[in-house]
Amino acid sequence: MSLPTAAALRSRKLAEIQNTTYDLLIIGGGITGAGIALDASSRGLKTLLIEKNDFASGTSSKSTKLIHGGLRYLKNFEFGLVREVGHERAIVWKNAPHLVHPEKMLLPIVEGGSLSKLGASVGIYLYDYLAGVKASERRKMLSAEETAKTEPFLNKQILKGGALYTEYRTDDARLTVEILKTAERFGATVINYAKAEKPVYQGKKIGGFEIRDELTGDTFSVKASGVINAAGPWVDEIRKADGSLSGKYLKLSKGVHLVFPFKKLPVNQSLYFDVKGDKGRMIFLIPRGRAVYAGTTDTFYDYADNPNVTQEDVCYILDAVNALFPEAKLTENDVESTWSGVRPLIMEEGKSASELSRKDELFVSETGMITIAGGKLTGYRQMARKSVDTFLRNTPELQAKCKPCFTETIKLAGAGFESKTQFLQTLKDSAGQIPGSLLVLESLFDKYGSETDVILNMAYDIYSENRTLENPLVLAELLYTIQHEWVVKPSDFYNRRTGLLYFNRPKVTETARLIDAHFAEWSGFSPTQWAEFNKQWNHEYNEVLNFQ
Ligand SMILES: Cc1cc2nc3c(=O)[nH]c(=O)nc-3n(C[C@H](O)[C@H](O)[C@H](O)COP(=O)(O)OP(=O)(O)OC[C@H]3O[C@@H](n4cnc5c(N)ncnc54)[C@H](O)[C@@H]3O)c2cc1C
Repeated sequence: MSLPTAAALRSRKLAEIQNTTYDLLIIGGGITGAGIALDASSRGLKTLLIEKNDFASGTSSKSTKLIHGGLRYLKNFEFGLVREVGHERAIVWKNAPHLVHPEKMLLPIVEGGSLSKLGASVGIYLYDYLAGVKASERRKMLSAEETAKTEPFLNKQILKGGALYTEYRTDDARLTVEILKTAERFGATVINYAKAEKPVYQGKKIGGFEIRDELTGDTFSVKASGVINAAGPWVDEIRKADGSLSGKYLKLSKGVHLVFPFKKLPVNQSLYFDVKGDKGRMIFLIPRGRAVYAGTTDTFYDYADNPNVTQEDVCYILDAVNALFPEAKLTENDVESTWSGVRPLIMEEGKSASELSRKDELFVSETGMITIAGGKLTGYRQMARKSVDTFLRNTPELQAKCKPCFTETIKLAGAGFESKTQFLQTLKDSAGQIPGSLLVLESLFDKYGSETDVILNMAYDIYSENRTLENPLVLAELLYTIQHEWVVKPSDFYNRRTGLLYFNRPKVTETARLIDAHFAEWSGFSPTQWAEFNKQWNHEYNEVLNFQ
């Protein structure tokens, strides 16, 4: 196939960036930066987003992957936050229906747990009301017998009842990538493996950044009328470089998730339950395809880079799950994969990690650099609107040419369909001509939505060139993510675009030879660089099961 390689696509973009002056430079390609890129570009700003690693490689691929209504915030009486995220949740669902799935969540009420039947009933009623949950999705209280019937593997000896309410499941990294793809359609430029190193000033005001290409080590300067720092757990590093780290600062809290094969814990729906022996803390158990994942821990942590999974983290989650599902008898050997991320929280003296607010905060430095910190996946759109509003208020010459925020009505890339069932029906004919496609069509759609069509066409072309291929679809997925989703390294593909590292490790092994045979060629990087990428990937693949 005569498509440009990843390296060629990248050098074209780097040349364009070095020859352009931008209205706005965004640092950080997690969900916050992605949301800002979409907001700014759709309003008409010439926008550049740089990410030092891969997009969503920070906290935005390490969350519990829920578009929350924010039930847990009720405990801290953060009513405003529950209302805001409830409203936002409905918007994210409307704009990315292929990536956001409303699902029932069971909250078992157990002996010695943090919630009484009455407490749960009133709390979830209030939550439904504040979050604007529609009538058909409102909470249903269950007796102990009904709860046991809903989830037969639960520990019946401690069960007092249960509540069913609605949460929305997503894929955080894919959501981030779809927002970035949409921003690009509005004219934004986004680039991964490009690190903001040193601020550049025009007089006393910030006017760009010195950037390091993390793949070659080259550095260059980018000019922009303004800078928004959306570097998540790293925002204070950027504030420090700008000489503006004072007043409030970040406190990081680590959260670990463990993944098990679904057959070891075949739950009927997601659950949110008390951690035995850690009063007041609750964790999630969420089925996803052939896997089920549980988390999270919440402990202060000092470093933003590569938060590790410790033996203690593993025991904490295993004990909590086994207490509720004693028959599962889960051990460390059942852990198929893990991930660990850090929450960028705003420090408040005397509070524990769980007590710190998940609210976002915005700081404007004397040099004019805007920093947006804290917050949630769910609230990304509002955080983006606030950041861009602030930038425009401080830059009246640009405000005059910009539209007001209208991201509420922007359908994300992949959302170009009316009904999933009908869309899948229209794809069945073309899928039928490609080996192995019909079986995985729906899971492909749940990742790429209406773009599945493009992937199937690529698979058809690949298969036409070589009819002996057993799995042309996985190659097409790789090619699509290189051409349209900035995939450079194996980890970008296996971890953040497809989720295989976490949710289907057997498929990683199964497809490794086929993928390897094409990836190096389609990537276009030198053999030395490619060997280095592979070394990093092998390390990451093993590291998720290395508990220190
Ligand atoms: C365990 C856990 C569970 C969570 N669960 C949920 C949930 O279920 N629902 C929910 O709504 N929220 C959840 N959250 C919160 C949510 O994940 C975060 O609020 C959100 O992902 C933060 O996104 P961000 O873009 O601000 O940060 P990040 O995703 O970390 O993005 C910041 C990016 O900046 C880049 N960067 C840093 N320095 C530089 C530099 N110098 N130059 C260029 N780029 C740079 C980083 O590489 C990184 O990719 C959870 C968080 C954790 C840790």
